[in-house]
Amino acid sequence: MKIGFVGLGFMGSPMAGHLAEAAKGSGDELIVWNRTPAKAKSAVEKGAELSSSIEQLASECEVIVTCVNRTEDVKEVIFQMMKSAKPNTLFVDHSTIAPKGAVEIGEALNVNSMRFVDAPVTGGSAGAIAGKLTIFMGGAELDVNEAIKITKPYTKVSDRVGGQGMGQTMKLANQIAGAGCLIALCECLAFAQKSGLDMAQARQLISGGAAGSWAMENYGPKILARDWTPGFSILNQRKDFAYCAEVAEEIQASIPCTMLVYELLGQLESDGRGEQATTALFDKISQT
Ligand code: NAP
Repeated sequence: MKIGFVGLGFMGSPMAGHLAEAAKGSGDELIVWNRTPAKAKSAVEKGAELSSSIEQLASECEVIVTCVNRTEDVKEVIFQMMKSAKPNTLFVDHSTIAPKGAVEIGEALNVNSMRFVDAPVTGGSAGAIAGKLTIFMGGAELDVNEAIKITKPYTKVSDRVGGQGMGQTMKLANQIAGAGCLIALCECLAFAQKSGLDMAQARQLISGGAAGSWAMENYGPKILARDWTPGFSILNQRKDFAYCAEVAEEIQASIPCTMLVYELLGQLESDGRGEQATTALFDKISQT
């Protein structure tokens, strides 16, 4: 089988690397394309073939995995590929986008006799590098089963959560929980610092108790090192919270904590820090 991968950023590059390694000796082939070709280097070193164009990739592959940014980016790349892809091609999208956008993309592909599974991920860039992502799949059962098999090389847990668009809805619920964990971590460490506690000791001791979290384990050391290199950028995080806000308004759900984190990260974005890691929220909180 020929598998295509489009979007080799912080998440896509290590995912494609795992697929390239899994393809070796299996008879499968991995073909990659990225808008900025230099970012394909790592996947190519692991055995992927770099396609000369996105259209060429689409015409050759039976399964095409995408991991780009916003709803409009996913529409742009998938609608471009839809013109040259073969009937029955399965598109699996790992980007976090609006659930409505995923439904529209799925409908357009289905009308053209192609298949779509929205498959947003969680686990961060560390999870992508380790090949241990959690994936929320939305789509027809047979298509999801196929997507689960294809994405196995970088999966810790994956499951079908409903039809097209529901993977994205689950991801938004995940982002709402993540907002709480991020702000709680930043408040905790800023409080520890201002009270004269040893921040590293606070992180270590609290991690092992009831207030510990994935954020504390993985983001805590970055905060202690004041390392704001992404990982997961403020721009991408705010994009997700904007989708959360849209859906929350439609369904009349209250998400006050998420909206507070959205607002505080917006202040960092206005300060020109949108490309930094979301953990830079610590700066905002500790300086107020
Ligand atoms: P990223 O590093 O910014 O990578 C995005 C990739 O998509 C880049 O390769 C970029 O190409 C490509 N791209 C974006 N728009 C495009 C377009 N219109 N046409 C063609 N290519 C386009 O982002 P990331 O951190 O990997 O995140 C990717 C997706 O996963 C996002 O939806 C994000 O919300 C989600 N996600 C991220 C994390 C995380 O921890 N980073 C965790 C879970 C989910 P260029 O190289 O040319 O810019």
